[in-house]
Formats: sequence, structure tokens, C-alpha cells
Amino acid sequence: MNDATREVFGNIAPWMRAVFFGMIAVSIAWPIWQIWARARLWRKGQNAGVEQNWMVRIEQLIIYALGQKRVYRKSLGAFLHLLLFSGFVVLTIGTTLLAIAYDGPYDFHHGRYYLIYELTMDTFGVAFIIGCLLAMYRRAFRRKPSLGHNKSDWWLLGLLLSLGITGFAVEALRIHYTQVQPWIARWSTVGWLIDTSLLQRLDIGTARKLHLTAWWLHSILVAAFFASIPVTRFLHVITGPANIALRPRRPMGALVPLTVEEVERTGRTGVNTIAEFTRQQLLSLDACMECGRCEDACPATASNKPLSPEAVVIDLRRLMSRGGGDVHTMIRDETLWACTMCQACVEECPVLIGHVDLISDMRRDLVGEGKLSGPPAKALQQISNQSNPYGRPNSERLAWAEGLDVPTVELNPGFEYLLWVGCAAAFDPRAQKIARATAQLLKEAKVNFAVLGAKETCTGDPARRIGDEFLYQQLAQGNVETLTRHKVKKIVTPCPHCYNTLKNEYTQFGGHYQVQHHSQLLAELIGKGRLSNDTNTSEPVTLHDPCYLARVNGEVDATRTVIGAAKDTLFREMPRHGKKTFCCGAGGGRMWFEESPAQRVSCLRAQEALATGARTVATACPFCLNMMTDGIAGTQGGEKAKVLDIAELLVSRGTANGAGVCSEPSETKSGS
Ligand code: SF4
Ligand code: SF4
Repeated sequence: MNDATREVFGNIAPWMRAVFFGMIAVSIAWPIWQIWARARLWRKGQNAGVEQNWMVRIEQLIIYALGQKRVYRKSLGAFLHLLLFSGFVVLTIGTTLLAIAYDGPYDFHHGRYYLIYELTMDTFGVAFIIGCLLAMYRRAFRRKPSLGHNKSDWWLLGLLLSLGITGFAVEALRIHYTQVQPWIARWSTVGWLIDTSLLQRLDIGTARKLHLTAWWLHSILVAAFFASIPVTRFLHVITGPANIALRPRRPMGALVPLTVEEVERTGRTGVNTIAEFTRQQLLSLDACMECGRCEDACPATASNKPLSPEAVVIDLRRLMSRGGGDVHTMIRDETLWACTMCQACVEECPVLIGHVDLISDMRRDLVGEGKLSGPPAKALQQISNQSNPYGRPNSERLAWAEGLDVPTVELNPGFEYLLWVGCAAAFDPRAQKIARATAQLLKEAKVNFAVLGAKETCTGDPARRIGDEFLYQQLAQGNVETLTRHKVKKIVTPCPHCYNTLKNEYTQFGGHYQVQHHSQLLAELIGKGRLSNDTNTSEPVTLHDPCYLARVNGEVDATRTVIGAAKDTLFREMPRHGKKTFCCGAGGGRMWFEESPAQRVSCLRAQEALATGARTVATACPFCLNMMTDGIAGTQGGEKAKVLDIAELLVSRGTANGAGVCSEPSETKSGS
């Protein structure tokens, strides 16, 4: 067993080895120089926003680069990438080990280790070749429109395939001319099969010559591969892991605050030129391999709006390659406004590119330059003047609670939970019923809660997502002061946008609270037997997961618990659900933008909901409720369906005393 080994460079004359090492050295030096040139472009960016913690960097590398967490899914693209990736990694490690054994002080390349080494290398070599063939097949016959395509892709795939094939040819010819004993040769399975099936009549001398030819061809291909890295999509094997390691870790729903110092330094409130992005953001542009996953998930693209997150990244990369310049010459204003900030693109991207940060930075510049007009500009003005985007006097904030005897923080200073109502549930006539249902359920379950009433103002979420960062910061600071004054520790809110901002973004201003979405508290109360989620429906129900609850904050179970999905035989899941939910179209301030009916995201989502056969579409966000109601109303067959918040559904099923849930509170009209 210990005899089992193989020669290294056995058929290669010393001068040939010298030429080989020289060629490989040059072919490695070239991409290093090229990547250094790219790094000079990245270094033009701001020296900020890079993950500093080495443990986090390593963890991100293990999960997303080595573990390929974002790549796994049931698709041909994912399968072939897995074959290519695993083949590439194992063959690279194997070649390195061989070099260490050859040049190092201790030759471990023999015996049982050698046999397992050979079998492993052959197995992953086959995986690599199959991956190449599948990638060629997909590119030739099954290429989706979002998959980027350059002529160099064919060169690269041809190169990789040739590398795999010549590698096995070299192995088979070596086995033949060195007359390896069959029991050892069998472990180099592919080479042995080629030898026994095709090379048996070949004389040893010819096999030696052919081996030398195949070895040179393979070596030249290796050198060509190294040289191709910086000029093909294979660049992502360097830039992808680099971006994964350096991407700052923070909650998905938290945007980066803009500081007064930054504005004073740049003279702008956002990003106008390539150099105003951070270095990590510029590196991320080079990490994109144009896989198209972000575009496939984007509701703006799906609804024919002029936005593709993939195109945004590629256009910015083009601008960076030209040496920089005004980002708005590449990215149209309409493109930036089309984003709902649903984070579907961010969730999909295998190399952790932050499309939403890029878009948000450029939006801030548009707002700073006064390029926002119409209803969204009016909404911002109303937030600034009346502390809510509906333009209603803030003194009317408790109109939704008429007749419900809801305690305020003044009347109940010893409250356990603050019910943060949110502007939509406070002022929008339809959404007010969510606030009423939530309050009724809390009372039914004997939860000690209170509301701020007129002291509550907009959290600033719409202002921040639209791009008015300083209006957001003003509201955030005011709210944090109010919450501190009333010694608030626990907050519950029916709005996922308020939930996200209070939980993930107010920490940037010193606000640290135990924040729950109403679905989470209601699920807890059901678990404790203080509320019941018994279902008595005779009609199919489906659930639309709000992006800022399910995807951005990972809550997908509580909503289902509240509506008793597990025990409801009539519950129907939509194809895109949970963290893979599809936006309703309201996020990112889009609630206040005008849209042509043909471009409404809500219509696409309504069609998906109705296709389940559901007669009730449950949701857990006042904005989703409004958008889905509009979408269902505008979709054929929608007249038979209704949209309800999970709290309303629970009340309507008789868990709490339903009286008053559907009655209109007085004097409340939408002011948007
Ligand atoms: S956040 Fe949503 S709408 Fe915006 S680019 Fe990404 S997927 Fe598209
Ligand atoms: S940005 Fe990410 S998801 Fe989109 S094409 Fe590039 S690598 Fe793929």
C-alpha cells in the first residue's frame, strides 16, 4: 500500500520545468497587476463602511463564499454553479497539495493518502467537466434574459472545459507509459478507464510523446486561465469573497446614517459621483457576476418599471471603469424612484451586493438637489409640517380609537407595552381598523398597554427611504426623546415599517427597545392561551408576507400562528412566500408615487394571491393592506375576495368581541 504513488514531472525535462514555472509566474503576475489596477479604482471611494471585525469577516466568508449559502436553490444555474465551484475548489486545493509534496521537505504523496487523493481529484474533475457542459448548454439553449452574456463567457467556458479534458488526458497517458499497477491505477478512475478502453494498443514511446504534448497543452491552458481571470466574469472568484468579507454587517433593514460632517466635507447630501461611494461599495461593483438573480426577484423589473438592480450595478461599474463621473449620467432619476426598497435583490445576491444602499445613496442626492416633485414631495412636506405623511393634524392621532377606551401614556403611566400605532393605522380610514382590532385583542388578552396619542409622530421611515435623511433624523431624535421621557421599554406595532425602524434604526440614535410586531405579540398571547386562533372558516385563505416583516426581519411564523395556518385545511400558501415574498409595491416611499395601472406591483401580487383560490387575503401591514385591496379590486375575480389584516381576521373569527371593528371612526379621511 505504501508503494502507491506517482511521479511528478517525470516526463518533463528540467529546462521544460523552468519554462513552465516562468510561464505560470508571468500568468499569475498579470492578473495581480490587473486586479491592483482595479483596486486603485476602488480606492478612489470613501474610506468608510468596511467591516472591521475579523471574526465577522471570517464568518461571512465561511457562510457565503465557502458555504455558498445564497447559491442553493432548485435550478439548473444553481446546480451547475455548485459543480463548477466544488470542482474548482477541490482541484485547486489538490494541485496545491501536490506542489507542497513535490517542493516541500516531506513527501506525503503516497500510500492510502495518495489513493484517496487520486479518487477525490477524479471525482471533482468529472463534476467540473459536467458543470462546464451544463453551463454551455444553459448559455446556448436556456439563457434567461437577466443572465449577463459576453463573448468572453464562451472563451472562459471553453477554457475550463479544455482544462478538465486535457487534465484527464495527461493522467491517462501517464498511467499508460509508466505502466502503473492496475490496483493503484484504478484509484485514478477516469485516467484508468481511458487507458484501458482507448490506449491499450499505444506503444510506450508514443504514449510518452503524447503525454508531453498533452502536458504542454494543459500547462498553457492553466496559464491562459490565470491570465483570463481579471478580464472575464471569473474575476468574481477574487472580488466576490473580498466583498463578502468586507461588507459591513448590520441589520438588513438599517440604512447608513448620513452625518453633518460628511455633508460639510462633500457639500452634498448623498452620492453624486462614483468617488462618493465607499471603497467597499466600489469593490462590490466588480464582484457582480451578472447572474441575474437580483433582477429576477425585483418587483420593479417585473412590473415594467425602468429599474433592474443588476443593470444599476453594471452601469455603475462601467462608470467606475471610465474613471468615475456623475452617477446620474448613467442612472436615470426614474430608475432610482422605481425602487420599493423591498430588499429582494439584496437577499438574492450571492456576493452580498447592497443594491438598496447604492440606490438610497443616489436618492439622497436627488432629494438634496430638489429633484423630487409631486405627491411624494408633498408627503415629505406633510411629514415635516404635520408629523405625518397624510397631512392630518397630529391632534387627530387618536381618532381611530373612538369608543374603544384606549389608555394613553398619561392615563396609564405604568404600561408594559407601548402600542405604536403608526401613521397609516392612525389616519388612513381603512387601516384604522387594524389599530382598532389590535387594541381590542390586547384588551381581550388583558395586556397592560398605552398609546402616545398626539405625541406619536411619523417614525421617519418614508422620509428615509425616499431620501430625505435629515428629515428622518429629526423625527427619529424627537421620537427617541419622547420614548425616553415615558420610560418605554417594550413596543408593539402593527406596522412592519415602524417595527423595522424602531428596532433596527433607532439604535443609531440611542433608542434601544424591545420591539415586537403585533403578529409576534399576538402569537405569544395565543401560545399562552390568552387568545384563541381557532379557525372556523369555510373559505380558502392565503397570506401575503410583508417584505419588512418576513424578508427584512425574518418573521414568517408568527403571522401564520395568528391566523391558525397550520390547522386550517383551507389555508393556501402563495408560490412566493416567507422570506421569498413579493413586494406589494408600497415600500421605499412608493406608496406616495403615482403609477400607471399597467405598472402596478400590487396587481401582480393580487393575481398571485387570487391564483391560490383564496377568498381572504390576510396580511400584516397597513400599507400592504391598502395596496393589496387596490390590486385585488383591479384584478379579474377580485370582487369575490377580501383583504384583511391578521388582527382583523382574528377578531372576525370571534376571538375578541368584534363589535366596533368594522364601524368607521368619525372625521377620518385620507389626506394623501
Ligand atoms: S429593493 Fe426591491 S424594488 Fe428595489 S431594486 Fe431591489 S428588488 Fe428591485
Ligand atoms: S448584483 Fe448580485 S444577484 Fe445581481 S447579477 Fe450581480 S451578482 Fe447576481
